[in-house]
Amino acid sequence: METRYIHTVQYYETDKMGITHHSNYIRWMEEARVDFLKKIGWDYDKLEALGVFSPVLSVECRYKAPTAFAEEVNITVAVTEFRGVKLKIRYTMTNAKGRVVCEGVSEHGFLNAEGRPPALGPRAAGALPPADAPGGGAGAAKRGRKRLLFLLPLLLVLLAGAAVLVRNPHYLYVAGEYLGLNCRRIERRQVEPEGLVSVTLEELEGEENVRFDQSLLLVSAAHPLPEDFVPDVTEYRDSGVYMNNCMQEAFAALSDAVREHGESGLYVSSDFRTRAQQEEEYAADPALAALPGSSEHEAGLALDVYVRYFAGYAFHKSRGGQFVGRNGWKYGFILRYPSFGEKETGITYEPWHIRYVGQPHASLIYNGHTTLEGYIDSLHEGVWYEAQGYRFCRQRPRDGALLLPEERAGAVVSPDNTGCYIVTIPNEGAA
Ligand SMILES: [Zn+2]
Repeated sequence: METRYIHTVQYYETDKMGITHHSNYIRWMEEARVDFLKKIGWDYDKLEALGVFSPVLSVECRYKAPTAFAEEVNITVAVTEFRGVKLKIRYTMTNAKGRVVCEGVSEHGFLNAEGRPPALGPRAAGALPPADAPGGGAGAAKRGRKRLLFLLPLLLVLLAGAAVLVRNPHYLYVAGEYLGLNCRRIERRQVEPEGLVSVTLEELEGEENVRFDQSLLLVSAAHPLPEDFVPDVTEYRDSGVYMNNCMQEAFAALSDAVREHGESGLYVSSDFRTRAQQEEEYAADPALAALPGSSEHEAGLALDVYVRYFAGYAFHKSRGGQFVGRNGWKYGFILRYPSFGEKETGITYEPWHIRYVGQPHASLIYNGHTTLEGYIDSLHEGVWYEAQGYRFCRQRPRDGALLLPEERAGAVVSPDNTGCYIVTIPNEGAA
C-alpha cells in the first residue's frame, strides 16, 4: 500500500537564501503519514478513542537535493514493516522534475494508556486498516498471524494428505488395517470343562468323530518344519493348484466371496512347494523366499493370491485384495504377515500371502490384531478357552496323551509345531 501527498514549500519554511530549512522535512513526513493513515481508515482519532497511542520511536532523514519557496514536493508514503506493535514507514520526496530531494524513514509503536502494547479486540475492528493495508490492530494482527502460522502447516499437511489420498485411496485401507480399525470385539474366555480324561494320540486317531489336520502349524525360521514332515496336500478342483486338505473348502468359499465382490476370481500365483522347490526359490532370491523348511508353502497352508491386474503389493489396491485382508478371517484365513506384525513374524508386510488357520482361530487372530506367533503365545498350555461357539486348548502331550472332555464330537486336533497340539471342539457337537 502506497499513497501520495503533495506539500507546497511555504515562505516561512525557507532561510535567507530561499532554501528550505532541513527541520521541515520531518514535519512534512508527519503530514504525509497522517494523510496516509486517514486514507487507509486508520486515523489517529479512532486509535485514540480506543485508548491506543502511537508514539514515534525514530525518524531518519537523508537530504538529497535542496527545495525552495513555492516548490511542490511530492511525498510517497509506504509501509515497509509491520509487526503488530511496531510500524515502519518509508517516505520518498521528489520535486516537480521527479528528482528525489529527500528520503525518510519513521518507526512507530502502539501503546495503551498504561504504556503497554495494547490488546486490540474486536472493538478495534472499525479502526483497522482494510485488508490490503499494512495489517489489523496491533494485538489482533499478532494473534491472527500466530494462529495462521500455527494453522498454515496443518492446512498444508491436510491438503497434501488429501492429494495423496486422491491418488492412492488404498492408503486408507492400509492405515486402517495397520491400526486395526476394522477389528471387532470377540470375547475369548477361560473355561474349565468337567471330567477331563486322558486319551492317547493313537486312540484319538482311531476316533470317528475326531479329525487330525495341520491347520495350526506354526512355520517360521524359528519353527522350521521337521525333516520328516509329510504335508497333507492334494490338488484343488483339478486346477493344478495344490493346497492342504484342511483348507480346500474354505478356499472355495473365500474365492466365491471375492467373485461376489466384483472380481473375476481369486487366482493363485504360488501354492504348495516341495522342499526341493523351496530350495530353488531360496537360491534364486534369498531376500524374498523363506529359508527351506521355514515356509508355510511347504505345508501347503499358504497361498500367494491375486486378482486380475492386481498382484503382489498391488493386491491391496484392489477390491478383492481389500476384501481378503478385511474379511478373510470369516473364511478361516489370515494375512500371515500383516503390516503391523513384522516384529513378531520377522517378515515384512505381504498383502498377498494368505494362511489358513480355521475357526475360531482366524476370528481371534484378525480381531485380536495379532499374528499367528502372538496368538499361539497367548494360548497358555493346558488352559481351555471358549470363543465363537468353540472350546479349545493347547496342550503338550504327556506320555503321548492329551486331556480331553468326554464330549468331543467334531474335535479338530492340529499340532502347532512347538511340541503342542491345539484341540478345537465345537460346542454343538459334530458340525
Ligand atoms: Zn507366500
